[in-house]
Amino acid sequence: MFNPIPFIEAKRDGKSHSPDDLERFVRGYSAGEVADYQAAAWLMAVYFQGLDAEELRAFTLALAHSGDVVALPEGIRAVDKHSTGGVGDKTTLVLVPLVAACGVPVAKLSGRGLGFTGGTVDKLESIPGFESHLPLSRFKNQVAEIGCAVSGHSLDLAPAEGLFYSLRDVTATVPSLPLIASSIVGKKIAGGAGSFVFDVKCGSGAFMPDLERARELARALVDLSASLGRKSLALVTDMDQPLGTWVGNAAEVNEAFQVLSGSGPEDTAELCRKLGGAMLLLGGAVPDLETGRLYCARALQDGRALDRFLQMVAAQGGCVDSLRKGLPLASRIREIRSKAAGRISVLDARCIGDAVKWLGGGRIRKDDRIDHGVAVQLLAKKGDTVQEGQPLMRVYYGDSANAQEALGLLEKACSVGSSVGPAPLIMETIGFEGTVQD
Ligand code: URA
Repeated sequence: MFNPIPFIEAKRDGKSHSPDDLERFVRGYSAGEVADYQAAAWLMAVYFQGLDAEELRAFTLALAHSGDVVALPEGIRAVDKHSTGGVGDKTTLVLVPLVAACGVPVAKLSGRGLGFTGGTVDKLESIPGFESHLPLSRFKNQVAEIGCAVSGHSLDLAPAEGLFYSLRDVTATVPSLPLIASSIVGKKIAGGAGSFVFDVKCGSGAFMPDLERARELARALVDLSASLGRKSLALVTDMDQPLGTWVGNAAEVNEAFQVLSGSGPEDTAELCRKLGGAMLLLGGAVPDLETGRLYCARALQDGRALDRFLQMVAAQGGCVDSLRKGLPLASRIREIRSKAAGRISVLDARCIGDAVKWLGGGRIRKDDRIDHGVAVQLLAKKGDTVQEGQPLMRVYYGDSANAQEALGLLEKACSVGSSVGPAPLIMETIGFEGTVQD
C-alpha cells in the first residue's frame, strides 16, 4: 500500500517525485487510501514548491488515465477548448455548438465553479432536465451524431481530476500554475480531442492576475500539450472586468442564448468568434485565424449555431422551451448605485464573482447546493460615463445568510475615476510554434 507521508514530506522539502510515485499517489487518493487531508497537504506543498516538467507530465497523465480515455470513432478528429476560469465567462456554451455547426466536432469535458469563478457544468444544470454527466458511450455517440457534447466529470472520465478539483476549491490551492495546467490538460487528454484551444484569463477575475503570469500559464499549457502529442493554441484574454453583462448560472445561459441568436454583448460575441476561429484552424477547417473568425460570425448570424445548441440541449435531456422563455432568476432584487459622477475605472471581476458565490451562486463547501437564479446584471462597464446615483448593477438573490456581506462586496467592486477604458479583449495568442500573429 502507498504511504503518503514520505511523499508529502518530499514535496514539502522541495524534492522531485518519480512518475511511478505520482501515479501511485493519484491511484491511492482515488481509491480512498489517501485521505482528503493528506491530499490537501500535498496540494499545498505543490502550491509552494511547484512541479518540474517531468512531474507535471506524469501527474497529468495519471489524472487523465484515472478512468477511461475517450477514443472517438474512426475519422472524428475533435477539437476541445478550455478557459482557465473567469467571471461571467459563458463562452463554452456558445463555442461548443458554434464550432460543431461549422463542421469541426467538439468533445468537451467541463468542470463546476472553482473559487470565485463560474463553471460550465453549474451553468448547464440551470436548464431543467439537463444531464451534465454523460456515460462514456453516450458522450461518444452524441459527438458522432450531432457533432458535440459537454459532460462534467463522471465516474468514467478523469475521476481523479474531479476529486482533486473539488478539494482544491475548498483548500485555497487553486491558483497554482502546475495544478491548473495538469487539471486542464488531464481533462483534455481524457476527453479524446486531438487538439486544444486554451482561453487563459488575465486580470482581477482570473487566477493569473497579471500578464506575465498569464503568459507563463499559456506557455505551460501549450508545452504540456505538446509533450503529450497534442497541438494547441492559447489566447490570453482580459478578465479584469466580467465578460458580458450578466454573472450567475441561469443568467449566463440566457446571455449565451442571445449570443447564439446573433445578438448579445459585443465583447462576448467577439471572443466567441475569435476562440471559435482558433478551434476551426486547429480542426483543419480553415487556413488561418481570420477566416475561422468569419466562418463563426456567419454561423452566429444565420441560426446554425443556435440550432446546434438546441439539438445538444435536447440530446442531453434539457428543456428547450425553458431556454426560449428565458431561465428564471432569483426573486429579490437590489440595485447598487454610483457614489459619484465620472467614468468607470474599476469593475472588479473578483469581487463580483465572490459576491455571486456568497449569495449562493457558487459553493463555500464542497457539497453546497447552488442557487442557479442568483445573478448580477452589469448596467455599466469600464470606460462608461455614469452620473451620481445611477444604477450600476442589479442583483438577484434568494434566501441567503450572507446577503449583507455580498452586497457590501458589490458596493466596493466599482470605482469611478479618471482612467482608461477596458484592456484589449485579446492580449496575446501563443501557439505550438511560438507567438501567433492575428
Ligand atoms: N480550470 C480547470 O479546469 N482547472 C483549474 O485548475 C483551473 C481552471
